[in-house]
Amino acid sequence: MTETEQQELKELAHRVRRHVVRMATDGGCFIGASLSCVDVLAYLYRHWLRISNAKLDDPQRDYLLLSKGHDVPALYGLFVELGFLEPHRLANHLKTGDHIYWHPNRNIPGVEFHSGSLGHLLSVGVGIALDIKLCRGKGRVVVILGDGELNEGSVWEAVLVAAAKRLDNLIVVVDRNGFQANLATEALIPLEPLADKFAAFGWETLRLDGHDFEDLEAGFALIPRRLGQPTAIIADTVRGRGLPSIAARADRWFCNFSAAEIEQLLEELEGHRLAVIDSDIIVAR
Ligand SMILES: [Mg+2]
Repeated sequence: MTETEQQELKELAHRVRRHVVRMATDGGCFIGASLSCVDVLAYLYRHWLRISNAKLDDPQRDYLLLSKGHDVPALYGLFVELGFLEPHRLANHLKTGDHIYWHPNRNIPGVEFHSGSLGHLLSVGVGIALDIKLCRGKGRVVVILGDGELNEGSVWEAVLVAAAKRLDNLIVVVDRNGFQANLATEALIPLEPLADKFAAFGWETLRLDGHDFEDLEAGFALIPRRLGQPTAIIADTVRGRGLPSIAARADRWFCNFSAAEIEQLLEELEGHRLAVIDSDIIVAR
């Protein structure tokens, strides 16, 4: 990856983070998880996935399924930057009359399947990947899972089936931000050694820095790592990446800020002083 390409990706991710922050008001959003997966999504859509804005329903396309649907502001913000979605629609977040909501919705161009009820989209991804194989297609399927989402048993059923069906066109990316809601995953139901668990199920595994574009490129360049085996990428990330005042607080996972706080957070995103947050934060839902 050239320095110019890296810089372009950084600027793209930064613009997406600004969209995410602007959606954290008038009802709020899951800002921390949204910010943790921005870089992975930006890299994939810009550099790896074969998805054309001009033909989002091309049967030969790659697929991305956002199973951890709570971070949909990152996906919708990116869709605006990619030209999939008109910018003004982000302002419809949580308003009636549009499908811009807390979770991905198939009525939004570029969204492959509904999600947000956790633990389901890896099974959908297995089905799509198997269909591609049966049709002798070239498409690849990426499923983004949250680390907390791995507590859903249905995820591991799909992990078993993917290995049994030798789906080397299926890639899981675990957004390993270390949190499930307002608790550290390792304090709740420990996941480590996570890569070993996928390997025990017959998957190829790789661990990388989910905010490092060169690391992402090096990892995805090797896929499929082994013919006949699906790949699990553990992407280490920081929840609230880009906003230290969010990243430092476990309770700031779902946030509904005032308009003045949003302005401060946008300045913090530019590297200025930390935002002063007075709004109540929802710590449990
Ligand atoms: Mg998490």
